Amino acid sequence: MAEGGIVRVRHCGAAIFCRRAPARCPACGSPLRGAGLPAAPVRLPGPFRHGHRQPRALLLRPAAGTFLGGYDGRSDLHVGVSSSQGVVYNYDEEGVHRAETGWEQCISIPLVQPDMFGLLQQWDKLLEEFSAGEDWLPHRYDEHDHNCYTYALAFVNSVLTAQGKQQMSKSEFTERFVIPRTKQASRYLTLHQELTAKDFYIVPLPDGENQG
Ligand SMILES: [Zn+2]
Repeated sequence: MAEGGIVRVRHCGAAIFCRRAPARCPACGSPLRGAGLPAAPVRLPGPFRHGHRQPRALLLRPAAGTFLGGYDGRSDLHVGVSSSQGVVYNYDEEGVHRAETGWEQCISIPLVQPDMFGLLQQWDKLLEEFSAGEDWLPHRYDEHDHNCYTYALAFVNSVLTAQGKQQMSKSEFTERFVIPRTKQASRYLTLHQELTAKDFYIVPLPDGENQG
């Protein structure tokens, strides 16, 4: 499904969100062209990425359905790790899957900096070897304690260890890397849902941002 872009303009002391930039302010009806920089339309960066085009990343998607296809913000997310070729390794009650489709709309957390040459080269080998470990056999799966997230985090930690770096706890990793992006995605989904039902979503700006 198309991402459905969102545009923001500012007028009448409000942030006005819509699908395409309006000629006139939906609140007061005055023309927006020439109304100054705050009224200039800004296209919001969408928080979702095509996971099979995100090499060496931790990816999150809804366990069922898609984010923009009606995700309710509460249902489980499924987590995977992509190879250098965008194959998404993910663990569930059937063991490790190497998915070439199904991760087209994801929250993406890059795991390798572009200057980490050694790791760039070895990534696929490390991921494949890690995934072949018996920890990730189907019968070891447990919905709460040994799941897709356990798998992805254990892989991240195995890479950190191999580089002589300190491992990260689940809460540390979640707070530093996952929550900032899920929060951003959540805000975007709220706008997306509002704009499914109506043409404009108008949010009063706090005092101090009221210019324009
Ligand atoms: Zn206005």
